[in-house]
Amino acid sequence: MSTATTAHWHAIAETLVPETRLLIDGRFCNAVGAGRLASFNPTSGRPVAELACGTSEDIELAADIAERRFRQGVWSRMALRDRMAVMLRLADLVEVNAATFAALDTLEMGKPISEMLSIDVPGSVLAIRYLAECIDKIGGSCPTTNSDALHYMLRQPLGVVGCITPWNYPLMMAAWKVAPALAAGNSVVLKPAEDASLSAILLGKLFLEAGGPDGVFNVVPGRGDVAGKALALSDKVHKIAFTGSTGVGRLMYRYSADSNLKKVSAELGGKSPQIILDDAADLQKVADWVVGGIYGNQGEVCSAGSRILVGGKRHDEFVELFAQTARTKFRPGDPLDPATTMGPLVNRAHQKKVLGFIDIAAEEGATRALGGEAHLERPDGCFVSPTLFTGVRPEMSIASQEIFGPVAAVIRHDGLANAVAIANDTPYGLAAGIWTNDLNSAHAIARDLECGMVWVNGYMNGDMSQPWGGWKASGQGRDKAIEALLENTQMKSVWVTLNS
Ligand code: NAD
Repeated sequence: MSTATTAHWHAIAETLVPETRLLIDGRFCNAVGAGRLASFNPTSGRPVAELACGTSEDIELAADIAERRFRQGVWSRMALRDRMAVMLRLADLVEVNAATFAALDTLEMGKPISEMLSIDVPGSVLAIRYLAECIDKIGGSCPTTNSDALHYMLRQPLGVVGCITPWNYPLMMAAWKVAPALAAGNSVVLKPAEDASLSAILLGKLFLEAGGPDGVFNVVPGRGDVAGKALALSDKVHKIAFTGSTGVGRLMYRYSADSNLKKVSAELGGKSPQIILDDAADLQKVADWVVGGIYGNQGEVCSAGSRILVGGKRHDEFVELFAQTARTKFRPGDPLDPATTMGPLVNRAHQKKVLGFIDIAAEEGATRALGGEAHLERPDGCFVSPTLFTGVRPEMSIASQEIFGPVAAVIRHDGLANAVAIANDTPYGLAAGIWTNDLNSAHAIARDLECGMVWVNGYMNGDMSQPWGGWKASGQGRDKAIEALLENTQMKSVWVTLNS
């Protein structure tokens, strides 16, 4: 798709009239308490929209209707090919509305419009299509038994799935959560993030346009500690599919324990290592990937390769190439300009938090090799320039805590075993990258890394066949792939006694 001109995108942004109400039972409505949720443009500080702010009562209404629709079977028992057709039409409609989705997410959270058009929108369309195509491919099993019995195992939907999503990929995280839940036959209540809810509401609207029955996919924006908490505590909800911080992820398990022991899947934070061995070929190419792996989406990526572990022999050469490449490829600017590669951070509080980490890194003795400041030419925006620290030790704050911003930490390693030890020395376990020309090193490191996803000589590339998720404090469960669909089902064993 053409990315058009900056003026074109500003014109689209200015004429958008997004739906701002809750979507419950196929109808748009205001929140029970008439509360409002303000959304701001982090590039200008100006308001984008004022949304209805769902309360626990709205969540209960949505969960109640979702459960009723589930029991009625309007979706859960719909002919599989009809369900698939609705989802494929939804994917088509997301594609048709690509420009609107792109503008909404860019306005609300600052992501460059070019990333919306090349990653988020196509990634969401692909996720919905892939999971729709899986609908009639879910297999049960039929183990061998003695001749007096027949035993088969079914995969059935759970009921109501509550989806709680973050602001960093507003449309795509909603698609990754909602598509497998719907594909498996569940009803859904989606609670998007406070900072960026508009694309989730539009997704719900398009589900209806695609022919989805009322009340099967409900969207209730609201505060996490009110609406999100009510959803996770609701006895009508049978699974929480959560993506967000590890701190809030922990709460999901508590809420589950305090309510109906609902299933929880949690895609949480990370502090992912990129391991560069001395034999890595073409260091410029490595720098291109590694720079993209930390500064893409302003570093607001769960799998951002924020710890760069470099072998002693290549350290200085790599740092120089990295800094040069970052300067050329990532310049903060207007995210509605199709040439912009780095937008502002999501809000002022987050900008302050990221700048605070940069101050602490200097205090702890790391060397600032690049960036490290708010973008002074744009004081109204929540920008932080691409930042690189060298001389980082594993115990420093920037090497151990998730910053969720454009801050990279270079740590020296002295060989394969040491690199793996540093890489694993973290509570997180989401992703890792390995850069080497040696087949044995690549596979040995991949085997020993404690994380859910490993890339060799690439980073964050892949397709829908790749299950997305982590180990340790990065969570449990998987988005994408057939695994995401299976996680939205439950198993039933049927033992049939045969009398003759
Ligand atoms: P967050 O945890 O603050 O919020 C995520 C969602 O939880 C939001 O919808 C929020 O309203 C809701 N929430 C907040 N408090 C709640 C509560 N008490 N009860 C129920 N819901 C509550 O995360 P964020 O700042 O929106 O997103 C950034 C985080 O998300 C980072 O840690 C990032 O690594 C993580 N993330 C992980 C993945 C992954 O696939 N592993 C993908 C994207 C983002």
